[in-house]
Amino acid sequence: MTQTAAREASPTATENPFKVVQQQIDKCAQILKLDPQTVAILKTPLRELHVAIPVRMDDGTVRVFQGFRIHYNDARGIAKGGIRFHPEETIDTVRALAAWMTWKCSLLDLPLGGGKGGVVCNPKELSTGELERLSRAYVRSVYKFIGPDLDVPAPDVYTNPQIMAWMMDEYSVISGKPQFGVITGKPLCIGGSAGRGDATARGGMYVIREAARELGIDLSQATVAIQGYGNAGYHAAHLIKEVFGAKVVAVCDSKGGRFCKAGIDARKALECKESTGSVCQLPVGDSVSNQELLALDVDILIPAAIENVINERNAAKVKAKIVAELANGPTTPEADEILFNKGVHVIPDFLCNAGGVTVSYFEMVQNASLYYWDEAEVYDKLNKRMTAAYHAVLNTSRQYKINMRQAAYVVAVKRVVEAMKARGWV
Ligand code: GLU
Repeated sequence: MTQTAAREASPTATENPFKVVQQQIDKCAQILKLDPQTVAILKTPLRELHVAIPVRMDDGTVRVFQGFRIHYNDARGIAKGGIRFHPEETIDTVRALAAWMTWKCSLLDLPLGGGKGGVVCNPKELSTGELERLSRAYVRSVYKFIGPDLDVPAPDVYTNPQIMAWMMDEYSVISGKPQFGVITGKPLCIGGSAGRGDATARGGMYVIREAARELGIDLSQATVAIQGYGNAGYHAAHLIKEVFGAKVVAVCDSKGGRFCKAGIDARKALECKESTGSVCQLPVGDSVSNQELLALDVDILIPAAIENVINERNAAKVKAKIVAELANGPTTPEADEILFNKGVHVIPDFLCNAGGVTVSYFEMVQNASLYYWDEAEVYDKLNKRMTAAYHAVLNTSRQYKINMRQAAYVVAVKRVVEAMKARGWV
C-alpha cells in the first residue's frame, strides 16, 4: 500500500486527524443545533485501552510494541472497526478512525457502534513468525476489551485475513471454545463471509455508479486515477473496469506510479507490485508522482491510501469530476471547501468505503446464525445498503444545501444522537 509515500507526498501530513474529526463534528452540531453536552460526548471517545505488548523477536531479543483499542461510541450497538498495523500510528489517528467508524456504521444503518485499534509497528520489517506472535500478543493484551458482544475488530491498513485468523484463534484458545464472531475479515474456511475480500472497493462501485448517474457521466467512457494500491486500490482498479468498462489511466503507491493513456491492467499492476514492491516499475506509460496523479485530468479520482493527501495546497489542482474516497480521511476540511467551490462531487470516506464494514456486519450475522450466504446474496444486500445510504446523503445535502460530507455527518450523527437520547445519556 502507499501509506508512507502518501504521507510524504502530503504537505499537511502532520495535520492531526482527530482535530479534523472534532472540526467536522462542530460543523455538524451547528447544522443540527445540538446542545453542548451532546457535542461533548460526540467529540470524545467513550473508552480507550493503551497497551504495551512484549514480543519475542526471531533473534531472541524482546521488543515492546505500543498498541491501542478504542470504543468511540457504542450508543447504537457493539463497537466495530479495524486494527491497523502502521509505523506512524498515533493515538489520535486511532481516535479519528474510531470516530469515523461510528458515523460509518450509523450511516449504513448497521446496528453497531464505532471502534478502532492499532499497533505502532512496521509489518514489512517483521518475519511471518514475528507478525503472528505480535498479533496473538495484541489479542492477549486487549482480550477483556473485545468480544462478539462487546467490540468486534477487523482488518485495516497492513492487516489481513491471516492476521484475523491468528487473532480469532488466540481469542478462542483463551476462551476455551471457538469464537468465530470475535473478529471479521477472516478466511472463508473459518467463518469469513463471501465477498468480504473486495467489499470496500465493491461498495465504492455502487456509490460511484449513483454519483455518475447523477452527474450524467457515462462510466464506460470514463477515465480513472487511483492513489494507493493496497486492498482497496487494487480491487477498485479491477472492478471499475470489470463492472463499468471504465479506463484506469493512472495508479500509484508509496514509491510513485504510472500514467498510461491507453489504460493500465489492474492485475498486471498488482503482479508488478508483488514482485518489485511497487507499481512504479510497470513497463507501460510514463512515471507519475503522487502529487501529479492527484492533479490528472480524469473523470474519477480515487484516493485509496491514507489521511490528508488532498489538502489546501493541492485541492485547487484537482480536475476530476468525482472524488471517491476509498481511504479514510484523505481530504482535509480546507480542501473540502475548495473542492466544493470548484463543483467537484466528493463521495465522502465513511460513505464511499463503507462496503468493508457492511460485509463485516454480514459476516457477524452469518457467524451468529451459523448459516452462510453466497456471493450473489452478499452483493445484493451490499448494493441495497450502499445505494440507500448514498441517496440519504444526497437528499440531505440538497435539503440543507451543504456538501456531501456535511450531509453524511448530518444523517449519521442524527441517528447516534437519537440512540444516546433514547438511552438517557443526554
Ligand atoms: N477497516 C475497515 C474500515 O475502516 C473495515 C472495518 C470493519 O470491517 O469493521 O471501514
